[in-house]
This record gives sequence, structure tokens and C-alpha cells, in this order.
Amino acid sequence: MNYTRLLTLLMVLLLMISFTACSSEDENDLLIFTNATIWNGTDQNMQENAALVTRDGRVVSILDMNDHDFPENAQTVDLGGAFVVPGLINAHGHIGMADGLDTSAQAHTTDNVVRQLKLSAAYGITTVVSLGDEPYHAFLVRDNMDPVERGMARVFLAGDVLSADTPDEAAEEVERNNRYNPDWMKIRVDDGLGQREKMSPEVYSAIIDEVHRRNLKLAAHIVYLEDAKGIVQSGGDLIAHSVRDEPVDSELIDLMLDRDVCITPTLTRELSVYVYSERPDFFDDPFFLEYANPEVLEQLQRPEVQEVFTGAAADYFRDALPLAKENMVALHNAGVRVAMGTDSGPPARFQGYFEHLEMQMMQDAGMTPAEILQSSTRYAAECMGIDEELGTLEAGKWADFVVVEENPFDDISNLKSILDVYIGAKRIQR
Ligand SMILES: [Zn+2]
Repeated sequence: MNYTRLLTLLMVLLLMISFTACSSEDENDLLIFTNATIWNGTDQNMQENAALVTRDGRVVSILDMNDHDFPENAQTVDLGGAFVVPGLINAHGHIGMADGLDTSAQAHTTDNVVRQLKLSAAYGITTVVSLGDEPYHAFLVRDNMDPVERGMARVFLAGDVLSADTPDEAAEEVERNNRYNPDWMKIRVDDGLGQREKMSPEVYSAIIDEVHRRNLKLAAHIVYLEDAKGIVQSGGDLIAHSVRDEPVDSELIDLMLDRDVCITPTLTRELSVYVYSERPDFFDDPFFLEYANPEVLEQLQRPEVQEVFTGAAADYFRDALPLAKENMVALHNAGVRVAMGTDSGPPARFQGYFEHLEMQMMQDAGMTPAEILQSSTRYAAECMGIDEELGTLEAGKWADFVVVEENPFDDISNLKSILDVYIGAKRIQR
């Protein structure tokens, strides 16, 4: 018997032992969510009359309720015929940088980070990838607090947005930020609409190499098509906003497909730059008002504050929004993975609610509810490299899920009919 065969035999034996061990006597460890229509986040359709079997906060399987092997001694939670989808993932948020409209040092606290992660979770956003500018308190929370126990969204962090003027500065800058042990790194390639010099390809290439040397990935904020291409050509791993100056072309599409680079369109970011120049419609949405801070709403309706949301930049991004949407759809149709992201977290970009607004805008732009659901779960996880544990309800992954009353495959806004949110199979307090 050769070595490979022996190894296979051993594996089979081990599997048999573990199956026997798990079968009946461990039923008491199971927590089963019964009586639901479940979408597990993969290409498979929703499964009606199904049950989600979990153990220690992780998915074991999804069973048909009529399955004759249905564990009889397990603890169950009846979901009353509701719909279950994997917890939503924001692939481009920002955590802990502002408290209401305040971005001063006073806003930077551990409590604020926890509050924002709980708020996200209340809206069904069970994971946030925060792409930069977090205070160190966000790292304290990430490293010391259990999201399952706290009922807050899981968080991944990028640390300081990297800046360097020369390729020589790149190594030092990346090393400095690496001390926090970030999950991603981030740069901005942006000339402030012609107001400042933007990072050169030489500098961002050097940064990307340094980031890769530390086995991390780099997200790049861009505005222009030219820079999106440059970033992908230089090995960048995520385009962190939609292209907003020109229609995307086959060169960018081929580059992104070739190198498996995703995009987070952040359409609500465009909206947030101008929408408060007058009172936005969503100020009347009960789903928004449920968690919105009345003081912030009052501030945003003051004439002197409304004034801030006017001017050249506001005009540019308002006018660029239709193109941003078209470019998102063009990339999506070409097979580039779109990961739902909002750029929420800075002042007046409302965490939790903006994710739902983003998904609505994706639908208005022409993506189907099924495509948006994938974008907000599995693709977001894959694009951000966290799909081993998150993004779908497959065996071994965290049982993070949202229970909704209406079918989100009919209309993405049905995700607003949240009944409950579970993180690690534990129901959060909303
Ligand atoms: Zn951002």
C-alpha cells in the first residue's frame, strides 16, 4: 500500500469516527432554528420548510423539516415561517471615526466603536470591513471583545490610510501602520477634483508591494478610470469606489477579471455629499428613524449645515452618481464581483441604514435582488478574504444570519422587515 492510499484510509477512518461521535449523543449540543425558508448564500435556491442546525455558534447543516434524521433531542427556536439569509457584510465601512457629526478626539472612544457595531448589527449588518481612519479604540474592540457575547457586528480594520510622497517612504509608512496588525491596508488616489496632487503610480506601486510583502491586501480609493486601471495594473486588490469620470472600458474590465479584483461601489457616498442640502426623503422612513439620533437630524436641517452640502464637490458627485451606477452595472454584467459597500461612518453617513439604502440604489441601478443579496453576503466575504468563516451558511462557518418577514428575493427592500438578527447563533438585542 502506498503512502497516499494509507493517508486516504486514515482520513476515511477519522471521518467515520467523527461522524459516529457527532450523530446522536451530541444532539444536546445542537441549537436548531426551525420552520424557515432559508437561503444559504450560495447559488442554491432558497429552501422552504427548512431548519438551520448549529453547534457552538457555527453552522452544522440545513435540514428539511421532514427529514427522518431530524435530531429529536436538540434545543430548537421556531422561526415561524420567516426567511433567513446570511448576515449582511459591508465590505467598505468606517468604524469609530465620528460620533454624530463630531469627528474630534472626543468622538474616539471604545464605547462609540461598540455602539456603532451594535447599531450595524441591529440593521442586520453582522460584519463590517472598516477601510481606514479608525481610532486605535477600534483595534482594542476588535482584539478584546467577543462580538457574539456583545451582540455586535464583527469588525475588520485597515488602520491609518497610508500616505507617502516618494517610493522610499512607502516601506516605513506600511511598517508603521502594520504595528496595529490591520486586516487590510488602504490608500487614496485622489486629486480632490483638481485641488491637490494625487499619489503617483510609482508611490502606490511601492506601497502595494510593501503591503503584499506582509501578506496583506490593499484597497484603493479612486475617482477616475485612469487610476482604477493603474491600481489594478500595479497589483491593488480592491477598487474601493465606483469609477466616476468616464464609462468603464474593456481594458479595465479585462484587468479586473484577469486579476480577480472586486469593487465596492459606495453609491450612498455620492448621495451623502449633496443630499442634505435639503431635507432628504429618508428622514421620514420609520426604518431610519428607529435608530437615528434626533439631535443629528435637527443639526442636518439647519440652513448653515445644509449649505455645507452645496458647492463644486457636491455638484460633481451628484452629477457623477448616474455614471457611478452605470459603471457598477457594467462591471457586474462583465463578471467583476461587486461587493456591497457604503463608505458609511463619516458624519451624516448613517451606519446600518445606509447599507439598506445602498442595496436599494443597487436595485434601482438594475441589479436584481438575488444579485444584490450575493453582493452583500458571499461576494463581500470573498472579496475581503473572510469567506472561510463568513458570508454563507455552510457547514463550519459562523451562524450569523438575519430573519426577515418578507421575501428579499422579491424586492431587496424586504430586507427591512427584520424580525431578528443572530451572530454566532445568538440573538442580538435590537
Ligand atoms: Zn472609505
